[in-house]
Amino acid sequence: MVSRVIPVEPFDLVIFGGTGDLARRKILPALFRRFRAGQIRSDTRIIGAARREMDTAAWRNFVAEAISAHARDAEGDREEATAREGFVRMLDYVVLDASGETGWAQLAGLVGDGRVRAFYFSVAPRLFGALAERLHQHGMADGDSRIVVEKPFGRDLASAQELNRTLARHFHEGQIYRIDHYLGKETVQNLMAIRFGNMLFEPLWNSQYVDHIQITVAETVGVDGRADYYDRAGAMRDMMQNHLMQLLCLIAMEPPARFEPDPVRDEKLKVIRALDPVEPDNLVRGQYAAGDGMRGYRDHVGNPDSTTESFVALKAHISNWRWAGTPFYLRTGKRLRDRASEIAVVFKDTPHSIFDDDAGRHRNILTIRLQPNEGIELGVTIKEPGPGGMRLVDVPLDMTFAEALGPEEADFPDAYERLIMDVIRGNQTLFMRGDEVEAAWAWTDPAIATWDGGDGMAPAPIPYPSGSSGPRESLMLMRRDGREWREIRA
Ligand code: NAD
Repeated sequence: MVSRVIPVEPFDLVIFGGTGDLARRKILPALFRRFRAGQIRSDTRIIGAARREMDTAAWRNFVAEAISAHARDAEGDREEATAREGFVRMLDYVVLDASGETGWAQLAGLVGDGRVRAFYFSVAPRLFGALAERLHQHGMADGDSRIVVEKPFGRDLASAQELNRTLARHFHEGQIYRIDHYLGKETVQNLMAIRFGNMLFEPLWNSQYVDHIQITVAETVGVDGRADYYDRAGAMRDMMQNHLMQLLCLIAMEPPARFEPDPVRDEKLKVIRALDPVEPDNLVRGQYAAGDGMRGYRDHVGNPDSTTESFVALKAHISNWRWAGTPFYLRTGKRLRDRASEIAVVFKDTPHSIFDDDAGRHRNILTIRLQPNEGIELGVTIKEPGPGGMRLVDVPLDMTFAEALGPEEADFPDAYERLIMDVIRGNQTLFMRGDEVEAAWAWTDPAIATWDGGDGMAPAPIPYPSGSSGPRESLMLMRRDGREWREIRA
């Protein structure tokens, strides 16, 4: 099967923060890959705009190095070299101060009329408002313009509302693309295809047949390079409010009437609004201690008194007809034993077993794996082969279908590739709407308030050894319900 690449019309993309870490590691390599695949035409313009003093030639070098380091499967053959030359020719650079006057007139002169213009806000969130204001002042905020806003989108409901209001002064909702890169992952979209493109799963997708759902996003890294930001945020704000919440929405939502931005986002919003407040008993906060030869969190962030959590696990309930009675267990943390993210839909036991006790009891588990090795697997129970008695065994049914689809199809694009192309195509389905983000904060804020009264006196999270599966209390969160977390394993 040959993958279809539909080229997009030439566009202008301005990357504010074009010399930053995110631009270097993700945005620029993603653009290069789409260019090399033939999706971006060579009369497109990509303009870096940042405070750092450099000229276009220097930025082109910076970008070439970023591609070498971060564009996957960069091979160094002749075709690759030609593609790189073609790509860097599309690049321009402007020295610009987001909150001052420097560079804005020059930028306005470079950005063209009559084609899609996208402005990627890859700078610190405190500059988002200033960027929106300056774009308006310099005549670049018209109907053809789109803005792409990175996380974090606020640190609580009030700040997210404020940011939404600020952006809304110059851009309407249809122009605002709030990124959650988890939504750009191939497997996350495949989850929707599997749920809503097959008859097989949907009838079982409710509390009558699903015992519980668990979502794990485990990282092995600590707070490397982001200590200041992270120590003011913590796992609940940095991961739970956005990434895990989005995954929960896609798993739990009702079928939208159409796979289009507003029908999909309406259904996600209903899920968030149906979430019960999290009870303090159903919430575990942890902080990594030294272990495995690595420093502990407090040492890492240089704050010996830090009470910020680097791990959070919780049990959530969705109060609606579909899910009443099915708990959702969510956990995320840093410095855990493996880098592994997955959603597991654990189905109930059969109501009655016709087999002997020594056949064992078995369950179907649908696993949606986000990293590493994106893919979907269904655990089914079969007879253990052999002439002996009827013994049952669980085997995985691999639903990645790499063989059926061919290697090209199985070569998943990076989330940023898809999301940036969606911005250019004007498709907001995989981006968060303002009301969704606010609803997620409205649910997260009271949970945070259970430990943080705003007086800086939050109790210390439970320490867990680096390289472990998190605090023991997190295991107890499930064990007391007679359930177990799946092992964190890459
Ligand atoms: P960074 O500090 O590496 O880069 C910041 C960029 O902003 C630089 O290009 C710098 O020159 C520019 N800049 C700073 N002040 C400026 C000003 N006044 N005017 C114009 N440009 C200015 O930051 P980053 O890690 O690339 O993050 C950028 C954004 O992306 C942030 O909002 C961050 O929260 C978000 N983000 C980053 C990551 C990541 O992995 N790095 C992941 C998710 C979200």
